[in-house]
This record gives sequence, structure tokens and C-alpha cells, in this order.
Amino acid sequence: MKRRDFLGAASAGAVLAGCGSRETSPAAVASDPQQTLHWKMVTTWPKNFPGLGTGANHIAKLINEMSGGRIHVTVYGDSELVPAMEVFDAVSSGTAQMGHGAAYYWKGKSEAAQFFATVPFGMNAQEMNAWLFYGGGMELWREVYAPFGVLPVAAGNSGVQMGGWFNREINSLADLDGLKMRIPGLGGEVLKRAGGTPVGMAASDIFTSLQSGAIDATEWVGPYNDLALGLYKVAKYYYYPGWHEPGTTLECLVNKAAYAALPEDLQSIVVNACLVVNGDMLSEYTARNNAALQSLIHEHHVDVRAFPDSVLQRLRALSEQVVAEIAGKDELSGRVFESYRSFQRQVFSWHDISERAYMNVRES
Ligand code: CA
Repeated sequence: MKRRDFLGAASAGAVLAGCGSRETSPAAVASDPQQTLHWKMVTTWPKNFPGLGTGANHIAKLINEMSGGRIHVTVYGDSELVPAMEVFDAVSSGTAQMGHGAAYYWKGKSEAAQFFATVPFGMNAQEMNAWLFYGGGMELWREVYAPFGVLPVAAGNSGVQMGGWFNREINSLADLDGLKMRIPGLGGEVLKRAGGTPVGMAASDIFTSLQSGAIDATEWVGPYNDLALGLYKVAKYYYYPGWHEPGTTLECLVNKAAYAALPEDLQSIVVNACLVVNGDMLSEYTARNNAALQSLIHEHHVDVRAFPDSVLQRLRALSEQVVAEIAGKDELSGRVFESYRSFQRQVFSWHDISERAYMNVRES
């Protein structure tokens, strides 16, 4: 059913075809399996960055393999073809046929985009996937990107992130006052309400900005990725939990015209390669965060701290305001908010007596 729905959406996309680029006639590919389509995938990550960049590489490899070489995808890191924050536009215009990033980077296109990455104090990875694939989330996501000629596919998840790296202790909300912190999406807006200054910044600039004092604090992802950036060298305290990113969905962006021009079997390969990585990346993060946390604590002697409950409670109250305000931005954002909130309420209720109840009683 799901696949049929997806292909239905794709045929609708075919109506919009004509504004993208392609380098080989799709008719030739359909009739001659020896022909190769050369696709570009631009990403918001440094080339080969652990988890995120290698996840994008994995998608390209799967497409190349599963298509028997009929599509060859070349992956470009941040700024190799376009800068990180221009990935969406590059896919929309057809400069690249695919992109890999996170939907909260595109709030300038639509406020609603942020719901498809992560929401402060919102759903975790398991719950996000449930909403996207069985709760109407994917249909809404496709609707949000449709005006831009871009087809989204869920393509990874970081799991619950860490709260970030600080050079001051966070004992009360006042400690966030005046804090200049790299933090994206809705979490950044919440920090602003708490008196801080959120800064948007691609991965490649984080280390030097924190080192030079251009920013006071940063979040990035979790132990695996934060170890790779070396953030423990330029910050004293590593706080948890990542209240602002409780399970961030990564995305594959596909140019609709390029997609619509593919024969059905290649369309299925493109989508399903992304879906393989959607699951695989979460497994990788779980395994490697676990190992990297041990290294941060025992080899690099990082001071790992929990945010005080009082701080988290205030941030949660601010988050509710920020998220609810998006609902009023436009009609579609309102529908996305209602769908997300209604699913979240129900799944939290189920997970209270399943996942949470189990977490509370199992041995740690
Ligand atoms: Ca993050």
C-alpha cells in the first residue's frame, strides 16, 4: 500500500516534469539497460563525515548496486558543488538530482519543514518513523516540498542527541542568558526565548567558532559525531539530554522531474535505497554513540553533566509556545502541527506503558 501511494505521488509529480536537468534520456535508459544515468547528490555534511556523510555515500552505493549501474550517483560534500545551506535549492532547480540533509535547515522555505526533522521535547526516532510511515507524516512532508519540485524521503535518524558543549555550568535558566550557541531549528528559537542567541552554522565551522570564542556553546549530534569534530578540546562540559533534538530524521531530497522521468523499477530503487539507510543509520548511531561515549569519558576525561530538571521544565514550557506558534503561520503548517501533535499524544501514551515502563525497570 505504502509503495503504491508513493508511486501515485510520483505520477502526480510527472505533471510538474520539465524543469529539472538530466544527463541521459530516460527513454534510452528504460529501453537500454547498458545506458547509465549520472546523478549528483549534494549534501549538507562534510564529505565522508561519519554517520551523516557516510550515510549519504551508502545511499549512493545502494542505488548504484541495485540498479546494476543504470544510475550512477556521485556524492558531493558541503561546498564541493554547493554550500550546505544551498542543498535544497540545488535539488529544486535540478542542479543536482538528489540531496541529503535535514528538513529544519529549510524553515526559510516553509516553517512546517521543521516538523519533519525534529521537535523539541517531541517524538523520538521510533515515534517519528511511526508518524511518517503509518501516521500520515510522509504525505504531509511531500505536500510541503511539492511547490519546490522536490520529493522528500526519510533517509536516516540520529537517535536522541546530546544537549551540547558548554564552557559554563548550566544550573538555572539564567545561565543561558546571553549565551551565543550554535543550535538549529526550533531548538534555536527556544534558546532565543530563554535569552540566548542561536546561531546557524554548518558542521565545518563549529570547531573553529567555539575555539575562537565566536560562539560560547554548541550542540552538534551525539558522542560519535562530536568526538569526530573534536569538540571536547574546546569545551569543558558535555550536557544531556538533547531536549531540542530527540530523534532527528535525516532526509533525501529528490528532484521531482528527474524522478518522474525514471522507469518504475529505478524509482523504486531510489526510494528504497533511502529507506534502507533510514533504518541502518539509526543502528549505526546507537552502536557508535555507545562506543564514542566511553572514549570521551575514559580517554578524554570529558565532564558529562545532566541539565537540571528545573531548566528542562522551563525549556519544555518555552518549546510548547514556540511549536504552537508555527501552527498559525499558514494553513499547511497548521495541518502539519495538528497531525504531529495528535500522533505524539497517542504514541506517548502507548510508550508510557511500554518503552518508558520497561526503561524504568530494566537494569542499567
Ligand atoms: Ca544537532
